[in-house]
Amino acid sequence: GVNFKGLLKRNWLLIATVLSVLLGISLGVVVREYASLSHLHKQYFGFPGEILMRMLKLVILPLIISSMITGVAALDSEVSGKIGLRAVIYYFSTTIIAVILGIILVMTIKPGVSQTTEHIDRAGTTPNVTTVDTLLDLIRNMFPENLVQACFQQSTNVVVKAASWPGLSSLNESPPCFLSWQNITKNYKIIGTYSDGINVLGLIVFCVAFGLVIGKMGEKGRILLEFFDALNEATMKLVQIIMCYMPVGILFLIAAKIIEVEDWEIFRKMGLYMVTVLSGLAIHATVCLPLIFFIIVRKNPYTFTLGMAQALVTALMISSSSATLPVTFRCAEENNRIDKRITRFVLPVGATINMDGTALYEAVAAIFIAQLNDYTLDVGQIVTISITATVASIGAAGVPNAGLVTMVIVLTAVGLPASDVTLIVAVDWLLDRFRTMINVLGDAYGAGIVQKLSKRELERMDLTSDVDVANP
Ligand code: ASP
Repeated sequence: GVNFKGLLKRNWLLIATVLSVLLGISLGVVVREYASLSHLHKQYFGFPGEILMRMLKLVILPLIISSMITGVAALDSEVSGKIGLRAVIYYFSTTIIAVILGIILVMTIKPGVSQTTEHIDRAGTTPNVTTVDTLLDLIRNMFPENLVQACFQQSTNVVVKAASWPGLSSLNESPPCFLSWQNITKNYKIIGTYSDGINVLGLIVFCVAFGLVIGKMGEKGRILLEFFDALNEATMKLVQIIMCYMPVGILFLIAAKIIEVEDWEIFRKMGLYMVTVLSGLAIHATVCLPLIFFIIVRKNPYTFTLGMAQALVTALMISSSSATLPVTFRCAEENNRIDKRITRFVLPVGATINMDGTALYEAVAAIFIAQLNDYTLDVGQIVTISITATVASIGAAGVPNAGLVTMVIVLTAVGLPASDVTLIVAVDWLLDRFRTMINVLGDAYGAGIVQKLSKRELERMDLTSDVDVANP
């Protein structure tokens, strides 16, 4: 028979987390129903959740730096090049698949066709953001001019509130933005800098270079390698402690969100659009990714998904791939037994640039907005949407609502008013959670697939290297 006690013991954290989600939702509903809290009290309510977010964000920096440097240094440059290439091919192809799936769904379901936009405010001005600007910003961010600054603030990552985007006032997490200052000052009103932003992409590029150099330095480089390896281990121990607090934090996080949402009516009005996005995400997660995984890895993909459960619930609750990264690491390494040399390399990059859920969402939302506007898209424009949705998902940072902001690129590219983002803003907090979950799942599958594809190289290295720093 099944050993329930053992099962319970092994999965207590996951069980506690899921229970706290349910409890949090019930608590939120009850408080909403029976207590009228002031705005201030609502904020107090979310406080334990805020602390969880802060703790998770806190470990991102040491985690990314130590894992990227040791991940790269543990491989020789030829092998890391091969692994990197495989990862990029995986990221790119799965993102494209997600976009195509989204386009097919939104063109068949047509959620925007018979709907009117009267119920939602719209604005007149169109912010001007081009794909080229976004690409240039992306590349610019890859080369931080100051390493320290890259760690605590990304100069381009500013919170904006457009005077012309009335819908944004309903957004409580301010949308961080990946656009250049110049573009922003032209079109938006800046309300502050996004102070907990980390230029992850810039740090990754630096750490890859640094790791490669350390790997080539021989005996002298070993000191640094051991230092960063110890840093990584210590950070992961911290993560383990933080995860014990997770059920408490999540309970209040979700309860506070439920108490705070003002407009539930909008969910009925936007129902079909949401169904389109959510079913796309569901198909991608349960059919597309598992199929690719099965073809390449020849193992049960759903067992793999189950192994990631803790990370998936976390992503769903905090809508940030970056802040989920520590949990993603633990699940991939502990439950799914993915080689550390692979996770350290593939997961941080994936959390930053591989966003299948976001890409799918961008494509669906853009075509939905076209449908609302009675705007017929030709084949060329649909191709443009696929390309820009991919770019927009790569450009979006792994933080809440980032995809909503990069949406502007897609809309502008096909001549739709970018201010129409206001039409979908009210439901974004919910969709954001689900697309983040799929983003994280895509990264994890990527690690599993790249590991399988790189099996030969990894085994060869196991035979030749005397001491294995990444896997002692
Ligand atoms: N919140 C998403 C993430 O962190 C990005 C997005 O807004 O689509 O992965």
